[in-house]
Amino acid sequence: MSAATVVAIDGPAGSGKSSVARAVARALGFQFLDTGAAYRALAWLVLEQGGDTGHEPTVIAALDALGTLELTIDPTGQRVSIAGHDVTEAIRSERISAAVSGVARTLPAREAVNVRFREIIAAADPGIVAEGRDITTVVAPDADVRVLLTADEAVRIRRRFGDVGGDEHQVGARLAARDASDAKVVDFLTAADGVTVVDSTDLTFDETVEAIVRLVSEETHD
Ligand code: C5P
Repeated sequence: MSAATVVAIDGPAGSGKSSVARAVARALGFQFLDTGAAYRALAWLVLEQGGDTGHEPTVIAALDALGTLELTIDPTGQRVSIAGHDVTEAIRSERISAAVSGVARTLPAREAVNVRFREIIAAADPGIVAEGRDITTVVAPDADVRVLLTADEAVRIRRRFGDVGGDEHQVGARLAARDASDAKVVDFLTAADGVTVVDSTDLTFDETVEAIVRLVSEETHD
């Protein structure tokens, strides 16, 4: 672990993790690592090549392109590119959200992206907020601050619906299906030892950010 302050945040889809983690990073003057973006970029590449993310050998073959993955860690404007394509916006589509769990289930893919994440975290200066599903447990279990950000499922569906629009029922079904599939690979619904649960169900966005910034300040200044 580097001398930098590492803040690890895990949580389910629609918990507001990415936006909250980015705002926390900005408030602290830290870098920001959205690990889901790497899984999404790989899913994008598999689909772009006409493949199926549910087919493990296809996902493993796509890992050759991992060397071309660029993930910026600037909390004010993250860019993601793979194989020379800027996929920053494309990876946010529902098509990718529906396909990404196939990549997440492929253990060699997890191991390969984790190597990248750990390198980024080790080089962080002066600190980094990393968010995903397994940051508190697998990627950075020694992080200075470890948070599980949760919210009731109905609230998460409403927030996600606010982001993507469409049919609220369908948005809810997709979110629940992705969580169920992701939960088979890593347990991000219960907090591991030493991980603080921040439940944002009754908190506004700013209150959630403040709660985590406060926690960082409490846990890094004895
Ligand atoms: O956080 P986000 O919704 O962008 O993550 C996209 C997907 O990437 C998740 O649904 C999950 O399948 C996978 N993921 C993961 N482990 C992480 C981050 C994301 O398995 N640390």
